[in-house]
Amino acid sequence: MCEALPCGGIEDGVISVKTYNCDIVIVGAGPGGSMAAKFCAQAGLDTILIEKKAEVGAPLRCAEGVSKSWLSEVGIEPDRSWIAADMVGAVIKSPAGHEFRMDGRKTGEEIGYVLERHLFDKALARDAADAGAKIMMRTGCTGVIREGGKLVGIKANSMGEPIEIRAKCVVAADGYESQVARWAGVKTVPKMGDINSCIQYRMTNIDVEQEWCEFILGNDIAPGGYLWIFPKGNRSANVGIGIRGDRCNVPAAAKYYLDKWIAEDDRLNKGQILEVASGMVSTCPGLDSAIYDNLVLVGDAARIIDPITGGGICHACRTGMYAGKVLAECNEKNDFSKEALKPYERMWRNRMDDKIVRNWMAKEKMNSIEDKQMDEIIDILSDYDLKQLDVFGILKAIKDKFPDLVEEFADLI
Ligand SMILES: Cc1cc2nc3c(=O)[nH]c(=O)nc-3n(C[C@H](O)[C@H](O)[C@H](O)COP(=O)(O)OP(=O)(O)OC[C@H]3O[C@@H](n4cnc5c(N)ncnc54)[C@H](O)[C@@H]3O)c2cc1C
Repeated sequence: MCEALPCGGIEDGVISVKTYNCDIVIVGAGPGGSMAAKFCAQAGLDTILIEKKAEVGAPLRCAEGVSKSWLSEVGIEPDRSWIAADMVGAVIKSPAGHEFRMDGRKTGEEIGYVLERHLFDKALARDAADAGAKIMMRTGCTGVIREGGKLVGIKANSMGEPIEIRAKCVVAADGYESQVARWAGVKTVPKMGDINSCIQYRMTNIDVEQEWCEFILGNDIAPGGYLWIFPKGNRSANVGIGIRGDRCNVPAAAKYYLDKWIAEDDRLNKGQILEVASGMVSTCPGLDSAIYDNLVLVGDAARIIDPITGGGICHACRTGMYAGKVLAECNEKNDFSKEALKPYERMWRNRMDDKIVRNWMAKEKMNSIEDKQMDEIIDILSDYDLKQLDVFGILKAIKDKFPDLVEEFADLI
């Protein structure tokens, strides 16, 4: 249980900043931060998790789609409270409307869920609290504290009051914006071609298939990205789009292309919007290093996310878990140097790096494909007997049917 109590106040008329001392301070209560907090606290470390927003998981900035396969790996038991809909498969649509259906019922594979992301994130934060982490809401990190060049904690604004949190190690779990790493001197800004600008509407009163996630491709539909329809039950769905940063060729490009699609899609154009979400995803490989002396980066902050799908919930959960486990080992040796943190870097790279790099190369290739060729690929794949219903399975099928397209990274498939 975190015992961290603040010291500070007014002494002899001098106001001192309220200061908390702990073993580990984690910035950001997204999936990455909550998982890191849970594993640190479980190992007995004094852990403080801070979150700048007033509510964990809200406002929504996510399409809420996840596959099922990784949940057990990070010790998360599916819970109906945070599952909005169970998917039987995914449909990929070409610019001309050719369909490629990946049907989990045919292969016996479990496909995925569309989440209630705000409840999922809260469940993870609750697990961290149950394990003994102290959670401080409406507490936004505003800078890092260095003494003699060493990172010794963070500055924050907590409910309007400046505070300091001193710790042996800082975990930057602050998502795409990733300011903590930047304050600590890490270059985290991706190239324009390696970010996607996204907007999403929660639509209701629409007529989309309720057990299939839909991905729609095309240069005139979603330049350098894709349009998604992820059903949420009750004739509603998350309808969103991501546009590659260097292909935002009209003002407010993501909104322009999403509105255009909705207006022309008879299943959607009589629907109503209940919620609007927008945000950015990085689509680059992970940072060259996610560890520094007394600093660990997890999830989106480390750019550890799938560059093709923009899916990063599972990556954030895995990296949070790895970070927590490694920090517990570092605490035993009382050594949080970059050298001591190396097992974390090894763990995430062994599990995900090849896939992330491969999918980044595939994303770059996809960006150069004309709509006509995309139609041809999806048409031919529609009859293909996929062995694995995921990006890897699709790339294997493309390698088989269109080897030239993937020759630059064929060894990764
Ligand atoms: C539009 C959109 C759709 C997406 N759809 C999907 C999807 O369908 N499936 C999927 O797997 N992934 C999806 N993603 C990506 C996914 O949301 C992220 O990869 C995932 O949330 C990363 O988790 P994280 O914990 O690293 O960061 P986040 O979930 O972003 O959490 C970071 C937390 O840090 C807090 N924070 C930031 N700065 C500070 C600060 N200074 N002080 C304190 N707190 C701070 C934030 O408020 C936030 O709560 C989508 C992203 C976007 C933008």
